[in-house]
Amino acid sequence: MSSEEKFDAIVVGGGLAGSAAALAMARGGLDVMLVERGKFCGAKNTSGGRLYGHSLEKLVPNFAEEAPIERKITQERLSLMTAGGALSFQYESENLHNLKYPSYSVLRSKFDKWLADKAEEEGVMVATGLLVDELVVEDGKVILADGVNSLLAQKLGMKQELAAKDVAVGVKEVIELGEDVINERFGLRNGEGAAWMIAGDPTGGNLGGGFIYTNKTSLSVGIVTTISDIGRVDVSVPDMVERMKNHPSVAPFVKGGKLAEYSAHLVTEGGLKMMPELVRDGVIVTGDAAAMVVNLGYTVRGMDLAIESGRLAGEAAVMAKKRNDFSAASLSVYKTMLDGSFVMKLMKQYQNLPGLLEDHLIFNDIPKMADEFAGMVYKVEGGNPVALPMIGLSVLANNGGLNGLFGLGKKAWEAM
Ligand SMILES: Cc1cc2nc3c(=O)[nH]c(=O)nc-3n(C[C@H](O)[C@H](O)[C@H](O)COP(=O)(O)OP(=O)(O)OC[C@H]3O[C@@H](n4cnc5c(N)ncnc54)[C@H](O)[C@@H]3O)c2cc1C
Repeated sequence: MSSEEKFDAIVVGGGLAGSAAALAMARGGLDVMLVERGKFCGAKNTSGGRLYGHSLEKLVPNFAEEAPIERKITQERLSLMTAGGALSFQYESENLHNLKYPSYSVLRSKFDKWLADKAEEEGVMVATGLLVDELVVEDGKVILADGVNSLLAQKLGMKQELAAKDVAVGVKEVIELGEDVINERFGLRNGEGAAWMIAGDPTGGNLGGGFIYTNKTSLSVGIVTTISDIGRVDVSVPDMVERMKNHPSVAPFVKGGKLAEYSAHLVTEGGLKMMPELVRDGVIVTGDAAAMVVNLGYTVRGMDLAIESGRLAGEAAVMAKKRNDFSAASLSVYKTMLDGSFVMKLMKQYQNLPGLLEDHLIFNDIPKMADEFAGMVYKVEGGNPVALPMIGLSVLANNGGLNGLFGLGKKAWEAM
């Protein structure tokens, strides 16, 4: 018996989408092989990483009780940064403690391995250290969950080569600090976590931003910047991380930390417009391979989309197996289920957002204006008082007037 005949389906990629798909198929009674190029599932994967738990909850109820989560996010921070300042927003509330489906900081090397182990326990054969570089789709039943670049979907002609404006590079450091130090610096108790998104100075005004997530005993600190913007400013991508760590508003939080991990990874940015063909005879594409990521600035969502789309891909394969029909028409139930899910609703809702973000106003001018505005509001030196609206108008006048802001407002309205 050849290896192709032994399995009802093969999943390429042991990230969250792949393991979710494999688990769903194993539960549906299929014999499944999951192939991962890394030494173990998760070995090659990077996220900022905040996982919104709702989609995994459907696959593994109460997963947080057994999965290697780091902290439950109970504190949201957002900063608009210039070289010398930051206007920051911080949200803490019992609302964040009492969410039905909280979000968690996770480290992918541990987390992905846990989900793949779960799939293995339920009967999936997990083969690691194997790079699939060619697909021969003969009577095939393959789920492609091979991530943002998906060379396999490209080779099959289902996906276009990535355009520089549709993809970003993310660089991330894991910095060990110790649990008590993190709690003290961020004002957290054990188990509570912070998610901090930063726009402006870290990327030198390039499209993208910085992030800091608290893990149990470490911080995940990194930046994401769109590839077409690299070279726009005279700062290399690794230097952007240094620049952020050295910023006066960030430095006290990372001080004394020890670098434990350094990674870089591509991030899908183009949204719905770069989504590939999702099904063909015998083939389904899911997760990042299918461009399912939404970056809203104040949060990045790819992991919850990967898990949901992976599960739906697996369920579609189970239905196809029952019909003994793996044609594109039969597998298109995947697209129908996706359309009904939050994944496609989210992708459609924000389909114009990437175009809006290409306007550097958000990453350049707005942090600058925020700094000027706050600087004037909080300056009390005994001079003539100036009313807040007048401060606002003077900041606008210094920065190209109302046109730019109205233009941005109009685009933002269209994008949402
Ligand atoms: C810096 C950064 C920050 C991010 N922050 C967040 C965040 O905070 N929250 C969030 O929800 N999302 C975030 N994302 C996005 C998120 O990481 C992705 O959306 C998610 O990882 C997608 O999961 P996936 O399983 O589809 O793909 P991946 O995680 O990329 O998994 C693909 C797998 O396929 C394997 N593979 C690839 N090719 C082959 C092959 N030919 N043969 C065998 N195996 C193969 C890879 O080794 C990998 O294990 C971030 C991404 C980056 C890079």
